[in-house]
Amino acid sequence: MSQRPEPVDAMDQFLQDRELLPDRCPSWCSDPHRQALEEGCSLAEASEHYGPDLEVSIRPIAGFGGTVVRPSNGSVRAQLREQHLHGAHLPALIYVEAQIWKGDTANSLKGAEVPLTSHEARTLARQLVHLADLVDLER
Ligand SMILES: [Zn+2]
Repeated sequence: MSQRPEPVDAMDQFLQDRELLPDRCPSWCSDPHRQALEEGCSLAEASEHYGPDLEVSIRPIAGFGGTVVRPSNGSVRAQLREQHLHGAHLPALIYVEAQIWKGDTANSLKGAEVPLTSHEARTLARQLVHLADLVDLER
């Protein structure tokens, strides 16, 4: 294994990092790796493959008679990502991020991000569809 020379300055570091960017992307990757590095992202950030970014908005719901069933605003996002480490095969993961406003201040934003395997995502999707069917078919 050849030893890489120590970078002398920021330009050397940039040129070395650019050589380590992924040379191939999965078909779903839409990330401009080189541009991300040029715009100041770290090598790790610029090397990550990014796929479709899907989002569902969550709005307050008032039930029959004006009863508030869900008072909060928020969103649920899902994005496909795969880290790129030189020579190591890492699985693509589906990141599901839920954020909800529990009030009007900046501190009232609550959220969590969960990376799921494709199997876990399919299981969750089936379970959500099952629950939605129970709600919609009950009517
Ligand atoms: Zn990529």
